[in-house]
Amino acid sequence: MNSALRPSGNGTGACVACASRSSTVLLKDLRHEYTTNGHSAEWRYCLIECTHCGLGFVDPKPTWELLQTFYDSSYGNFDGSHRDPAREANSIKCRVARLRSANPSDGPSALCRTGLGILCEWVTGRTTPYTLSIPLSLGRDACMFDLGYGSGNWLLMMSELGYRNLHGYDIDANTENASRLLGKGVEVSNGRFLENSYREGSFDCVRLDHVFEHLHEPVQVLNKCWDMLKPGGYLLMSLPCKNSWSMKLSLVHSPALQLPKHLFHHTQASARLLLENTGFEILKIQAYSVASQLAGTINETLAARQTRPIPPVLFEMLAPAYKLFSDVTKKGDFMTVWVKKLDS
Ligand SMILES: [Zn+2]
Repeated sequence: MNSALRPSGNGTGACVACASRSSTVLLKDLRHEYTTNGHSAEWRYCLIECTHCGLGFVDPKPTWELLQTFYDSSYGNFDGSHRDPAREANSIKCRVARLRSANPSDGPSALCRTGLGILCEWVTGRTTPYTLSIPLSLGRDACMFDLGYGSGNWLLMMSELGYRNLHGYDIDANTENASRLLGKGVEVSNGRFLENSYREGSFDCVRLDHVFEHLHEPVQVLNKCWDMLKPGGYLLMSLPCKNSWSMKLSLVHSPALQLPKHLFHHTQASARLLLENTGFEILKIQAYSVASQLAGTINETLAARQTRPIPPVLFEMLAPAYKLFSDVTKKGDFMTVWVKKLDS
C-alpha cells in the first residue's frame, strides 16, 4: 500500500476528523454499478485511511444524487416486517437494556438492577449499546429524535413502552415505514436532513443507530444535532468500529465494510475528534464485541478459500470469552457513543 497525499472526501484535502493530509490507500479500483435515465452506469472509487486518526473513507466523495443510487426500498435495514414492536418491548434484549438504564446512584435497588444487567451481558457475551439503554433512562415525556430510523422498530417499541414525544427521519428510499410510524403518532420527516427545519434546543436525545457511517456530511449533521438538542441533551450513536479484530483478520470479508454505503469507517479516535470539535462533552465511547460479526468475517474468508464454514453456534458459545478479549484490548466490532450538549 502506498502512502500519499490525497484528497480526503471532504473536498479540502484534509481528514474530516483530525485535519491530517497524510493517508493510505486501503482498497482501490472499487466499482458501483447503477442505472440512470434507463442506462447502466459505473462509478469508480477507493477506500482511503487517514494515517493519523485511522478514519477510513470512500474517495472521491459521491454526490448526494449518486448516493441515492446506493439505496432502494429493498435495503435490508429498512425491513421491519419480521419484528413485532410489542414483542420487542418485552424481549430479553429490551429487558436487559432497561436494567442497564438504571442509575446506580439512585440507591440499592437501582444498583442491583445494574448489576443484574451487567451479569446478563457477561453470561451472553453481548453488550447493550447506549442507543438502547440511555433513552430508557429518560422520562416518558422526553423528546427523542431517531435520525435514520431504518425499519422504524425502535420508535415503535418506544411507543409501545409509553413514550409519546417521538420523531424520526430517513431518506426518501425508505418508503415503507413512514405510514407505520405516523399511525402510532410518531412525527416523521424525509428529504435531505440538512435542509429540513427542526425546532432548535428542543430535543432531550438524538439517536443515530448504525447511521453515522452512512452520512454524506457528518460534520454538518453533528452541528445540526447540537442545535436541535436542549442544553444537557444527549447524542447517542452506535456504529461499526474500524479497530476491530474482525476487520484486522480480513477487511474485505468483514460484514461491516458495506461499501460504498458506509462512506466512513470510524475509529474511537476519529469519532471522539469529530464530537469534540462540535463541542460535545464525551461521556462514554465504548468499543464492544459482536460474535456474529466475527463469525461472518471468518466464514466469508473460509468461503473465499472454498473451505467449509464454522457453525455460528460455536461463535455464540465463545461470545463471553470474545467479549472479555475485546474489552481488554479495546478492539470491538462496534462502538457505542454517549455524549452531552453542555449546559449553557
Ligand atoms: Zn484523521
